[in-house]
Amino acid sequence: MLRAPRGTGDVLPSESRKWICLEKVLREISFKYNFEEIRTPVFEHTELFSRTVGESTDIVEKEMYTFEDKGGRSLTLRPEGTAPVARAFLEHSLGQGPLPQKLFYIGPMFRYEKPQAGRYREFHQYGAEILGSPSPYSDVEIIALAVDIAESLGLTGTKLVINSIGCPVCRERYRGDLIKYLSARSDAVCEDCRKRLSKNPLRVLDCKNVSCKAVTSGAPSMLDYLCEDCQKHWEGLRELLLRMGLSYEVDTSLVRGLDYYTKTVFELKWPPLGAQDAVAGGGRYDGLVEALGGKHTPGVGFAMGLERILLAVEKGEKPFREERALDFFVIALGQETRLDGGEKASATRDERIPAAQNAAPGADDDIFRRGFFLVREIRSLGLSCDFDPLRRSLKAQMKQADRLNARYVAILGEEELEKKMVSIRSMKEGWQKEIPLESVRDFIEKEVLGRGNQC
Ligand code: ATP
Ligand code: MG
Repeated sequence: MLRAPRGTGDVLPSESRKWICLEKVLREISFKYNFEEIRTPVFEHTELFSRTVGESTDIVEKEMYTFEDKGGRSLTLRPEGTAPVARAFLEHSLGQGPLPQKLFYIGPMFRYEKPQAGRYREFHQYGAEILGSPSPYSDVEIIALAVDIAESLGLTGTKLVINSIGCPVCRERYRGDLIKYLSARSDAVCEDCRKRLSKNPLRVLDCKNVSCKAVTSGAPSMLDYLCEDCQKHWEGLRELLLRMGLSYEVDTSLVRGLDYYTKTVFELKWPPLGAQDAVAGGGRYDGLVEALGGKHTPGVGFAMGLERILLAVEKGEKPFREERALDFFVIALGQETRLDGGEKASATRDERIPAAQNAAPGADDDIFRRGFFLVREIRSLGLSCDFDPLRRSLKAQMKQADRLNARYVAILGEEELEKKMVSIRSMKEGWQKEIPLESVRDFIEKEVLGRGNQC
């Protein structure tokens, strides 16, 4: 049997409602903050990522799904969303519109990683970007948005960790000193770090290896090297966070995986998640748009891993109600329905599926057709409604209605049809009423409408 590729997964119907609810919350909060949605392609020219994410990052070095298409172009399944958003911003001259542009995205990302809990090869991110504002107010707006999302989803006790990695000017001096410090201890770091030591020493700070951590705990801190502008921004950020009641911790080893970050970097953690507890990460990227050939356009943003968020929501204070609910289930009873399918099952047929119904028109068919019209009518009122096309017995259909958590069942039998009536049963309250077919619409509008099931 063919299975889904390693590190990927299906969202089955039993899970998909959670995704729908999560996306609804994400969109609602984004609109509240006046962000607009942007959708970019799932694949881009490889160069977009190698130029912006950085040649010596984990993503570009090891994690990209890169392939050549039939025209010989090198394409890459997007591993992250910020570079594509910046590319689209430039390509469509969004910078000529009102600034800042506030954009968000929701979609799949692809990274060739070792699959484990909370780490997949195809995963989904929500991300938000503010392009065109150098103000620390925008950093705080982005951070507040991430915290707001986590809190609305019932994740109390998130931990906000911040740091500043300066700008290319002040970072250069820091980089030199960091290389000196690390080179003197190169025997004590892991092999990967020894390799990245001179190319991208900041990444050594991010290494999870215990011996590397021991070395970097005494390393010089970027915060002691910030230039005047970066220092002002850093102080502005911290003061605003405090005033907004957003408590934070400073972690000087927080550098993030991508090259294009400047000044602020942050991570939002939710400790109960365990090993992979970062639910969102982001920061400022003042050099990104320029790196793509555009005008200097400061930006700040973050991305949130939705699989991790869903794992967290399950463990949090407001797990999504998985309950599936249907407003109506229509049961049309005819001769065949009562006989439960008629024909005997053949050896290979799925026994739960009755043999194909004889389409010969007759009284039963009238009832069934009338039932089918009723389904359409109920749906046209904005209610969810279903029926059994396999025309099983009344008992089986009642069971089905129950399984679907139907609030009401409408029953149409020969007797009802003769009297031009339909029986409506409330599954929750237990009553059953006979309603004239012609006024069933009225009845539903009065009794049921406005109380439809919503996510
Ligand atoms: P990590 O340190 O966990 O590898 P990262 O720095 O690579 O994270 P970012 O590129 O900042 O992560 O992505 C933002 C968020 O996306 C992460 O905080 C995490 O929630 C999620 N994420 C990243 N990689 C994966 C993955 N392979 N599977 C699932 N979620 C992921
Ligand atoms: Mg990673």
